[in-house]
Amino acid sequence: MERTLLGSTFLFTFLFVSLGICLAGIIFRIARWFAVDTGPEAGFIPVKKRVSAVLKGTAAALFSLKFLKIFKVLFFDLLLQSRILKTSLSRWIMHFSIFFGFMMLLLMHALDEIITKRLFPGYFPTLDPFQFLRNLFGVMVIVGVGIAVYRRLRYRGPMLITRYTDRYAVALLAVIIVSGFLEESSKMISESSFNRMMSGYFSACEPHDETALKAFWSREYGSVFPTMKFRITPELLARGKKLSEESCASCHADTRTAFISYPAAGFMKPFALSLSKSRAEVWLYYIHVLACFIGLAYLPFSKFFHLITDPLTLLVNGISDKKKVNPLTAMPRRAMELDACTECGTCSRYCSVAPVFRMLQNTEILPMHKLRTVKRLASGKDMDSAELQIISEGAFICTTCFKCTEVCPAGINLQDQWLASRELLSETGHPLPHVWLKKFNASEWSDRMRYFEASWKEADAGKERYYNLTDDSNVFAPCIQCQTCTNVCPVVAARTDPKDAVDITPHKIMNLLRLGLHDLALGSRMVWDCTTCYQCQENCPQGIKVTDIIYELKNRAYEHFKKIDRTAEINEDPC
Ligand code: SF4
Ligand code: SF4
Ligand code: SF4
Ligand code: SF4
Repeated sequence: MERTLLGSTFLFTFLFVSLGICLAGIIFRIARWFAVDTGPEAGFIPVKKRVSAVLKGTAAALFSLKFLKIFKVLFFDLLLQSRILKTSLSRWIMHFSIFFGFMMLLLMHALDEIITKRLFPGYFPTLDPFQFLRNLFGVMVIVGVGIAVYRRLRYRGPMLITRYTDRYAVALLAVIIVSGFLEESSKMISESSFNRMMSGYFSACEPHDETALKAFWSREYGSVFPTMKFRITPELLARGKKLSEESCASCHADTRTAFISYPAAGFMKPFALSLSKSRAEVWLYYIHVLACFIGLAYLPFSKFFHLITDPLTLLVNGISDKKKVNPLTAMPRRAMELDACTECGTCSRYCSVAPVFRMLQNTEILPMHKLRTVKRLASGKDMDSAELQIISEGAFICTTCFKCTEVCPAGINLQDQWLASRELLSETGHPLPHVWLKKFNASEWSDRMRYFEASWKEADAGKERYYNLTDDSNVFAPCIQCQTCTNVCPVVAARTDPKDAVDITPHKIMNLLRLGLHDLALGSRMVWDCTTCYQCQENCPQGIKVTDIIYELKNRAYEHFKKIDRTAEINEDPC
């Protein structure tokens, strides 16, 4: 069996088929970025316009003076993965090990004919430092994969999603690395490999030269010659060393620098004869190479695709102004971002309203799940009304605080995704609660609460939830009605138009609670207009948690009002 890659028709065919699938997959997925509708601009911007806007934008960025920004993104965000380091050291070690180890193996080892040989004349994979580095990069990948598996087993739950495709990707990576190490180890102890190498590169001058060389390699480099019997003497070793330096040293370093494969070869020694006879090193080589080709073909359809999407997303969002959304390029950018999400769960862990998820158990509150749903919406998946209602609830609980965008290691502009998906939800007939809640004013909601409460209280008997802040009068009782909270509130200040003015200002809300008029406080528009900026809470002389109270009122109002029939007339007694 031919041992080299380029000499094998079978492997060549496999390589080209894999490459073809990989390229077709990448083209298909990138083409979809321009075809899917992901926001309020959907339907208004034809695909042609999207393509030309992206091409123009790319050209403008390349010829702009944003080199420093581009360098910063490429060096810090991409190469050093600084965005991950900001949130978790263990995740950074995991991701950096896999990314750096894998990329170096790809460039230095898999593409050695194209890259390493040209950069380093005299390169041989069995010479140092290449042999040592190959082991080092392989270990980095194994360590990274090990941490990833540990995290997935340790932190199961809605904050971290593990799919079958993730398992396949991890398994494939493990097969590639482990088979690579085993192939190297089996070659070290393979008598047939050694004999083949000797017949190609070594010519004996004296009768015992062959024995001397084998004696030296078996003592120093861990080679095994189960079919030979020889007594190793100092003279034989000295002669073997000299021969090795003359004939082998130019392309073979000390095998001990392969610090993983060498000890692994030690464990394989008892089976050396059968491994050598079955040509294990050749089969392991084929397993290794075929697994690489399968990985190549699988790349566009797996998590590995983020190797392409994440750098692009980081670059696009790194050099553009997140607050200025260009409607022509927004949809392809959003679609690309949806592909860039690795479901790492960082956004969900840092989400300001993650505690609300624990209370309501609606996973659509968590940004990672929300983004998955946005992807389903964008791909045109049919969802029933109940599903859309749950999604709408998740979307409205979001405080648009930017935290998730700040921590996302893929650099996704999540803020823009949320705003766009809200518009999309409205178009499907599921506007966010703050839209339909403003249909009535506070006293009208209060009336409706009283009107319907008999029926829903009966249905929810025993399920009433205790709200920590608004149910505890000690929380708001110290309010002295100084109005500081209202005076510092940017929402109150911004509403200069009387038609749009805040109906019940923050200090009035506190007063309603003090008076026990919870129903009126729940119906206040202030509750829905609050931006959770925390100005009121930070400035309150009595230390009252004004913002937290208003936020709790918002959730409480939604929970109550969603059960009320908003179309019913309330001119008769329902009881
Ligand atoms: S949006 Fe970003 S932070 Fe959230 S799961 Fe996806 S990649 Fe991770
Ligand atoms: S913007 Fe919304 S989803 Fe993101 S962290 Fe803030 S509350 Fe959570
Ligand atoms: S600032 Fe504090 S004490 Fe003053 S009105 Fe507002 S909640 Fe009451
Ligand atoms: S947290 Fe809400 S109520 Fe308080 S100052 Fe900010 S916008 Fe106004």
